[in-house]
Amino acid sequence: MFDLIFLGTAACDFSPLLKTECKERFDNNARRASSMLVNGSCLIDAGDHIIDSLRIAEVPLDNITDIFITHIHSDHFNPENIARIAEAKSDSLRLWVGDKAMIPQIPNTEVIRTEDYQTITTDTGISVTGLTANHDPAACPRYLFLEKDGKKLLYATDGGWFLNKTYFFLQNKGLDLMAIDATCGDYVGDFRMAEHNSIPMIRLMMPSLRTIGALKENSRVFLTHIAPSLHKSHEETVKIVAPDGLEVAFDGLKLTI
Ligand SMILES: [Zn+2]
Ligand SMILES: [Zn+2]
Repeated sequence: MFDLIFLGTAACDFSPLLKTECKERFDNNARRASSMLVNGSCLIDAGDHIIDSLRIAEVPLDNITDIFITHIHSDHFNPENIARIAEAKSDSLRLWVGDKAMIPQIPNTEVIRTEDYQTITTDTGISVTGLTANHDPAACPRYLFLEKDGKKLLYATDGGWFLNKTYFFLQNKGLDLMAIDATCGDYVGDFRMAEHNSIPMIRLMMPSLRTIGALKENSRVFLTHIAPSLHKSHEETVKIVAPDGLEVAFDGLKLTI
């Protein structure tokens, strides 16, 4: 079973309201850097806003045992913030990154490097597999496939489309939940096609993901890593994608799968 909290759901164009009226609260239209808390102790990504997000979600920093990093862009990997989490702990923090990720030393942190498509089961009982993503290669990008007690989730950001090996890894996985990069809104022709998705790209991928059994009938698919400047409001986007069977994540969203 997974207890999940979306701690942030934005791409990089952060709202100025985060510094003023939304400083101490989540807001559907002032999203923070994308991150997810898994089972109260594991983070997927810890970027520019993670300290604020954890405070607002009322999660003490020393509850965090493991951080799984998708890639080393600063909205997903902020070494100063990770150092603050590590500093709050009496034992060391485990930081999981791709084998080629170039990262600085962080005190009180044990770095665990895994190759893409290699599955590791953590002390928390969660199995994690990094799957190469179609994104800036210098940032060592990977989607993360997590499995526990037969429940399966894919955290698929940042990236555009699916690389061949990653797509076929997902064959017949029957995901319970997929959180997918939706940086760009409901239009075509954006230049970011080879590194981020738009809503029309996700619409095209969904039937194929079902055909190969990556998604099952009742899989829940959430858009995340949303660039506010490329999207309509949260409320409008919810309506736009509902007919496609898609849901829109928001900061503070809690789910159990
Ligand atoms: Zn990003
Ligand atoms: Zn990125």
